[in-house]
Formats: sequence, structure tokens, C-alpha cells
Amino acid sequence: GYVGVHATGFKDFFLREELLRAINDAGFEHPSEVQHECIPHAVANKDILCQAKSGMGKTAVFVIGILHASWDIVQNKDTADASKNQVTALVLAHTRELAYQIKNEFERFGKFAQGLRIDVFYGGVPIEQHKTILKDDSKRPHILIGTPGRINQLIREKHLNVDHLKYFVLDECDKCLDKLDMRKDVQNIFIATPQEKQVMMFSATLKGDIRDVCRKFMRNPVEIFIDDESKLTLHGLLQYYVQLTESEKNRKLNDLLDNLEFNQVIIFVKSVSRAKALNKLLTECNFPSTVIHSDMKQEERIKRYTEFKKFEKRILVSTDLMGRGIDIERVNIVVNYDMPDDSNQYLHRVGRAGRFGTKGLAVSFTSTEADTAMLNEIQARFEVKIGPMPDKIDTHSY
Ligand code: ADP
Ligand code: MG
Repeated sequence: GYVGVHATGFKDFFLREELLRAINDAGFEHPSEVQHECIPHAVANKDILCQAKSGMGKTAVFVIGILHASWDIVQNKDTADASKNQVTALVLAHTRELAYQIKNEFERFGKFAQGLRIDVFYGGVPIEQHKTILKDDSKRPHILIGTPGRINQLIREKHLNVDHLKYFVLDECDKCLDKLDMRKDVQNIFIATPQEKQVMMFSATLKGDIRDVCRKFMRNPVEIFIDDESKLTLHGLLQYYVQLTESEKNRKLNDLLDNLEFNQVIIFVKSVSRAKALNKLLTECNFPSTVIHSDMKQEERIKRYTEFKKFEKRILVSTDLMGRGIDIERVNIVVNYDMPDDSNQYLHRVGRAGRFGTKGLAVSFTSTEADTAMLNEIQARFEVKIGPMPDKIDTHSY
């Protein structure tokens, strides 16, 4: 598929030696287009508002930018410096699993930064645990990743001090800002931070009004937008639909899972109860299936995410909880068992396959008029042809 990498290397960004080594260890050879465009600005402490399509490496932009600057913080030998053991970078994501994933990315690239502390806080974990960490000068993270609700609560109750914050990131920024309650949390967190800081925001979808909302948090940002929405389509991704009735869905899914060759699959449904039921059915049919949904203990959610990431399960049934940001390299098939009710969400979901320009297949079940209308809207908006699923697909094509 189309990758859009640059002939340049990461060394051209003049990053810290130890950071470059970690990037190299991660197997990153050439920066992607979005990395090529954004990393120099990230390192130069510019505010960034960035739209780039799914799977193209937006995470590494802010992770590398923040880590590059973080060496100064941990190497600060001035014991009298009040900012030394403080939270200097805050990254917010809309789901706990994404926050957790981002924490792992910071750890992967920051592994040679001795003394640098990275942590992730979200709801569903006893808040006492977070309070204890924040009280302790030797445990308090320099880089904190979290979900807006928990972070806001910790700030409001004065357990988390953000007076020394220098970097503020919103991943999936449109999602963090589109619903009122999450937007309120983000705003309250933002207001508590110092004026002088670098703000970076990222998403694959940044249409219309939401850009202005984002801009309110920034000062003279570098803006990267994809206005031609046809360019948001992943080129290595085959996309088909299957027209059927609701009662035919299980049978068809079974057929697909039997006949398609897949490394890993994510199946999206529209509700928690449907996720539970479908996973039960698949498990009973001996498919190596697991499920993640919001009506599950947080520990269990992360455990299952990790299992799936480690390839211990091949099939994941989920709601839109896993529809954005989540990066599982081996996923090459996405099934919309239920159509999403929003065309942005379609783009995010199918982007779970075909990460970083790899090939993939997305199959959408359409059973209602609304489903067909959504399919048409998606095709028109992203200028993509989604045809009926053929009986045979060349296994090399996805
Ligand atoms: P996005 O946030 O844009 O959807 P991610 O940051 O999740 O994308 O990255 C997608 C995948 O591509 C990840 O598995 C990541 O490790 C990988 N990746 C990112 N940049 C590079 C690179 N320059 N070279 C190789 N792989 C990369
Ligand atoms: Mg991302």
C-alpha cells in the first residue's frame, strides 16, 4: 500500500542520541510524511494542529517531541529547582485503552532516558492509587497520560499540580472536544495549566467547526489539514459491503471467518449487549474471540487489550470503544457487523486495519435503509467505491 515515507532519516531531526537509538530499536527507518512535516515543529516547541490519516504515525510526533525535551528535565542537577519533580507533560486521550497505549509508546521511545518517569491515570482505577503517586516526589511522573475525567478530578481536588506544565497534548482531539462533558473536563484541565506551554492536537478527522474549537487552545499553531477528504482513504485497504437481514448476520460472519485468511480481526457492533452476545456466540463456535466493552472491570479491559495486542487472541469484538486510535499491527480485517452511525467513525474503525500503509480488508454489513444511506454518505464524502463483497477475494490483496 501507499506509505508516504520520506527518504530522509530520523537523524535529520537532530534528536538526542539516546532517543534516536530507541527509534532505531523500534524499527522505524524513515519518518512518515506527517512525521516529516511535524517533528521539526514539535521539537521547536510550536503549537501544532494536525490532521493526518489513520495509521500514519501521529503518536510518534508528540512522543518524540516531548521526549526530546524531557532529557533536560531529568538531567537537571539543580536540586533547588522546584520544577524538577513535577508533571511537565500532559497527554489526554478519549479512552483508557488509548491512554494506556500512548503510555507504552512513551516508554518504548523513552527507555534510555534514565530517571524519567512516565505514568498513566484513568478512571476505573481507585483514585487513592493516583493520589499516593502524586504525593511522592520520587514517584510523581514527569510525563502523564490520562483520560479527561480522572485528570480533571485530580486537578480539581488539588492532588495534581500542573503549575509546571510545558507540554499539553490532545490525541483524537475532535473526539475529546465534541461531546460537552468531555469538552468541559478538557477545558477545566487546560485552564489550570500555565499560559506558557506548547499545545499539540491530532486526529484523522478535523472537519469544519471543530478546527475553531481546537484553535481556541492554541497560539499561532502550525496547521496541517487534509481538506480533500478523498485523501483520507487508506489506499491499501479493500472495502466491501454485504447486504443482508439482521438475522443473517451471524451466519455470514461465520462464513467470512471460516473463509477469509486473517491475522487478526476486529468486529464492531453498536452496543455493549451485542458485543457480549456476539463474543459468546463466536467463542461457542470455537473461534479465538475476545471482547472489550465499557461494562467490564478496568483491569480486565487492559488485560484483554494486552492479550489481543500480543496475538494471544485473533478476534476482537468491540463497540466504538476500540474504534479510534488503537493500534494493533496484525489486524488486517475489520468487520462492521453493525454500521457506525457517523461517517467519521467509519473512517476511524476501518483504519484499525492497514496500519502504516499495510494492506487490509474492511467488510460492512448493511441491513437497514439507514445503513445503506450511511454507506452512500461514506462513499460520496471520501470518494471511495465500496462495492458488494465478491464470493472470492484474492488472499494476497489484503
Ligand atoms: P496514527 O496515530 O496516525 O493513527 P500511530 O501513531 O498509531 O498512527 O502509528 C501507526 C503504526 O505505525 C504504529 O504501529 C507505529 O508503531 C507505526 N509507525 C509509526 N511511524 C513509523 C515509522 N516511521 N516507521 C515504521 N513504523 C511506524
Ligand atoms: Mg493515533
